[in-house]
Amino acid sequence: MLVCHPRSKTVKPLKPYCQCWNKKVPVLWVDRGACGCGEDDNVIEWGWDLPDSSRASRVVVSEDRKQVTFHPFFSTGTAAVKGVVPMKLNYHYYWEVKILSETYGTDIMVGLATDRINTEDSQFRFTSLLGSDGESYGFSYTGAVRHDDVSSRDSSGFCRGSIVGVRLDMWHGTLEFFVNRKPLPLYLYHVLVSVPGGMFYNLRRHKELYPMVCSTAAQSSMRLIYADSWRASLLVDAAKILTASVKNFKKNLPPGLRYTCRTRFWLTLPSEVCEDDEPESIESLDVGSYLTTNVRLATGMKRRHWQLR
Ligand SMILES: [Zn+2]
Repeated sequence: MLVCHPRSKTVKPLKPYCQCWNKKVPVLWVDRGACGCGEDDNVIEWGWDLPDSSRASRVVVSEDRKQVTFHPFFSTGTAAVKGVVPMKLNYHYYWEVKILSETYGTDIMVGLATDRINTEDSQFRFTSLLGSDGESYGFSYTGAVRHDDVSSRDSSGFCRGSIVGVRLDMWHGTLEFFVNRKPLPLYLYHVLVSVPGGMFYNLRRHKELYPMVCSTAAQSSMRLIYADSWRASLLVDAAKILTASVKNFKKNLPPGLRYTCRTRFWLTLPSEVCEDDEPESIESLDVGSYLTTNVRLATGMKRRHWQLR
C-alpha cells in the first residue's frame, strides 16, 4: 500500500482515501482522473479561475474548471489559482480537492486568501505562499498549517490520493482543514491562535475570502470534487446538534433533516477525533455511527444523547 512519509516521526503515516492509488507506478496524465471514490454527491458550486495568457505556462485549468495542473512543463517558482466565487459573511462553506499527483518539492498547499494576496512576487520563487502573511491561510502537504507567516507543523499532511477538505464558517468566523474527511488535530491551531479548543477564528474580519491552491512542484495536479455552501441559520445549528446527539441519526432523524444531513455530510463532520476510537481504515468508516461516537461540536459543546420517544 502506498503510504506517505511525514517529516515528523511522532505523527501517523497517512494513507490515500481509497485503494485506487496503491500502485507505485507513475499514473499517466490522461488517467489521473480515473478514481471517482468520494465523488458521489456531484455538488460543485464553483470552479477554478482560468489563467490569463501570462500565467498559462504555469497553470492549466481543465475546461470544466475542476482540475488544476501546476507547471505542466517545468517549475520556475510558485504558481497559484483561486476559485471564481468569493466566500462571504454569514455562510457556511465546505470544499474538497483530490490530490492527483505525487507530493514533493518546496510546497503544495490548499487554503484561502483575500483578493489582496500577492501572487506575482512569488512566481519566480519557491515558497509556501498560502499563509505567508495575514491575507491568507494554508495547509501544506508537509503537514504544516500556516497563517501570517507562522507555521505549525505536526500533522501527516496529505499525499497522492488524499482528499483535502476545507470547512469555513463565516458566521462564527472559523476555519478547519480535513484529510480524508477526518479533522486535523486541534492542537495544531493552538500554536497559531491561543484559543482553548479552538481552530482558526476571527475570519469575519475578512469581508470575502477566496478558495486557493498553490504549488511549486512540476506537473502537480489536483481536482475539485465537492463545493457546497449553506446560509447560516437556526436550521444549520439545529442540524449540527441533532446529528451529533441522536444515536444512529440516519434512521432516527425526521426524513427531511435526514436527507439534508446525508447530502451535506460536511456540516456534521466532527471537529476533533478521539485517537483511540479511530477506525482502522477510511473504507471501514460508518459515517453515521462514527459521528455519534466521536463528535465534539465546533462550538465546544460536548455530545449529549437525546432520547427519542
Ligand atoms: Zn479511488
